[in-house]
Amino acid sequence: MSVKVIYEKCIGCSVCKDVCPFDAIDIIDNKAVITDKCTACGVCIEKCPIDAIGKEESEIQGISIDDYKGVWVFAEQREGKLLNVSIELLGEGRKIADQLNTNLTAVLLGYNIEDLTDRLIKYGADDVLYVDNRLLEYYTTGGYAKVICDLITDRKPEILLIGATNIGRDLGPRISSRIHTGLTADCTRLDVDLDNRRLMQTRPAFGGNLMATIICPKHRPQMATVRPGVMEKAKFDKTREGKIEKIIPYLTESDIKAKVIEYVKGGKAEVQLEEASIIVSGGRGLGSPEGFKLIEKLAKKLGGVVGASRATVDAGWIDQAHQVGQTGKTVRPDLYIACGISGAIQHLAGMRESKCIVAINKDKNAPIFEVADYGIVGDIYEILPELLIGLENMGEILEKAEVCE
Ligand code: FAD
Ligand code: SF4
Ligand code: SF4
Repeated sequence: MSVKVIYEKCIGCSVCKDVCPFDAIDIIDNKAVITDKCTACGVCIEKCPIDAIGKEESEIQGISIDDYKGVWVFAEQREGKLLNVSIELLGEGRKIADQLNTNLTAVLLGYNIEDLTDRLIKYGADDVLYVDNRLLEYYTTGGYAKVICDLITDRKPEILLIGATNIGRDLGPRISSRIHTGLTADCTRLDVDLDNRRLMQTRPAFGGNLMATIICPKHRPQMATVRPGVMEKAKFDKTREGKIEKIIPYLTESDIKAKVIEYVKGGKAEVQLEEASIIVSGGRGLGSPEGFKLIEKLAKKLGGVVGASRATVDAGWIDQAHQVGQTGKTVRPDLYIACGISGAIQHLAGMRESKCIVAINKDKNAPIFEVADYGIVGDIYEILPELLIGLENMGEILEKAEVCE
């Protein structure tokens, strides 16, 4: 619902301006003008002496916003394996759906992946729309966008969340443009304004120098892509039950403009930073690209992966795929070891939610120590070799302990 002035009637008396609690009305050329500050509280409607303000059902191509109900999460899977970001979105979607007192629906597209549907329920969905078709086995922009647009037109969700993965970043804009709604890309935070059921979508703006909160007041669904690793994963609850609906889509080969001839996996294994439970990250304090050999050694020893600060990426010491931070990846591993990283705000934005942070830095005043659970003040080139020897010895002790048992 939004509020509208009937200009032919308005006499510019200012009563509405005076009573508006949100300072959302200007009087221009002797007519009341409602600005973006309006929360649709309705006070002005009651007070206008000549009924010149009324409610306006927002129209999108003849459809009322109020007809749109429910929160949807696009449950992205690859080769039948659910992506972590899908589980994170189910966690966030569940919170939003509970606040709005509505259903959380997981939308799963693929071929012969029925076994995933029950997991989606256990991760918090009330129901699952499972669209099964041979043409959906592998992702194509045309095929996935058509199926989801058809579902939206038919069922009218008020919110649709998609992971900001390579696929999500391709799919989201295609859907929003076909459905004529807005999309906020790469969100790092979501909230709900309960007064008007608006999704408050926050993301870095202007090169990450400020955070912008974006709303989509006049169109539905409200669409957001969300960065992997930012939201907490939903808890698996094996007692949960829900409704699973299998849908046979109206989809033909002609709907898919690009033909997939063959899938070739990249030669360079992708760094799975967001999925890792242990990350050892190196910063400019390493002094040179060779320093990453030591970082790699420690990461390997702990069964983790290598992360990096942007300073080292910019210096060409390591590939951008390893970068953690505001313009890199957002991670929340069980253990994050920061070696020679100062702890700039943009780096912290990507790792401060890690469960345990260990920082090694020779400057005792480095900001990284403010977020660290354990801090070691000293030279990485003295501490890391000691740590490696310690881990080696511990391995031997544990082996011997097993033999003794
Ligand atoms: P430095 O700040 O130079 O810190 C090096 C640290 O190593 C120092 O604290 C020093 O005391 C310590 N040190 C030196 N030698 C040793 C030694 N031998 N032993 C132990 N400690 C030692 N940064 C990111 O990381 N990720 C991002 O996504 C990101 N996005 C950004 C986006 C924007 C819009 C902007 C403006 C900046 C962004 N940055 C990002 C850059 C960020 O501001 C910092 O410049 C960067 O994180 C610094 O990297 P660093 O900590 O490795 O280097
Ligand atoms: Fe116009 Fe009614 Fe507002 Fe007066 S109270 S300015 S008539 S809209
Ligand atoms: Fe102000 Fe409420 Fe009227 Fe909007 S509906 S203009 S917020 S009084």
